Amino acid sequence: MARHREAVCRLCRREGQKLFLKGLRCFTEKCAIEKRNFVPGQHGQSRRVKKLAGYGLQLREKQKVKRTYGLLERQFRNYVEKSERAQGPTGENLIVMLERRLDNAVWRSGFASSRSQARQIVLHGHVLINGKKVNIPSYLVGVGEEISLKGKMHENTMVLEARNVAQSQNAVPWLEIDRETFKAKVVALPKRENVQTPPITEQLIVELYSK
Ligand code: SF4
Repeated sequence: MARHREAVCRLCRREGQKLFLKGLRCFTEKCAIEKRNFVPGQHGQSRRVKKLAGYGLQLREKQKVKRTYGLLERQFRNYVEKSERAQGPTGENLIVMLERRLDNAVWRSGFASSRSQARQIVLHGHVLINGKKVNIPSYLVGVGEEISLKGKMHENTMVLEARNVAQSQNAVPWLEIDRETFKAKVVALPKRENVQTPPITEQLIVELYSK
């Protein structure tokens, strides 16, 4: 377990910034980025930080976003292709589409402490859309839909812990969240400017896939 936790934190250390992959731990001083923010590996501490350019920079940006949303390469590429076909700037389309994923919306609502925990909750059938079970983490939520947690999850320790932490966080402009009843209504589509952490330069990703 400890090894697994460390493995996840290595992804943040590789990017040199918090990707918030481990839930509550990410907000504590136990966070690996707080403790040792240098590239993982034997020589990470002594290795000089290389200034990336071109392909290297594009690749790192893609890896960062892919890992933030917990996606495999094939899934990520699908999102990029869909974003290219949609109207509007590809990079912006990409971020908005990733945000609309059901697992992300559950996490943003504060009903789980990480996107991976939110994904488990969805996969196990604890999440409803307009009162009907939807166990597909990649489901894209739309305006007017109501996301809710099944009753038995209202007493779940992990869910309650996540909710307590979320109470102190900023509001999510595109969700109307009622944390007492574990309901969140999608009142608008997410906008690019709503996604501030981690900082993303989506143009680098678009460039990478347009080669
Ligand atoms: Fe680990 Fe979370 Fe810190 Fe990333 S942000 S290093 S996942 S504790």
